Amino acid sequence: MASKRATVTCPDCDLEATFTKLREARSCIEDHRTETGHEAVWELHELAAGVEQAGEDAGVCGRPGSCNVDSPLVRDSQ
Ligand SMILES: [Zn+2]
Repeated sequence: MASKRATVTCPDCDLEATFTKLREARSCIEDHRTETGHEAVWELHELAAGVEQAGEDAGVCGRPGSCNVDSPLVRDSQ
């Protein structure tokens, strides 16, 4: 199913937005930072709680040789 993959929220205001593409969520965070100076954060729905950091370290695609990325964002390239 076409589930929401990320929710962007901001601890400094009422921003809350959901995205199906991680790059769009990242853009939202960057735009929000530019516009307001706030540090919005995202929650990745597809990953179990606590896995985000491990995913950043190991790559979340699970394929050896393509996981040497410094961010799970790369996974969204299409
Ligand atoms: Zn904000």
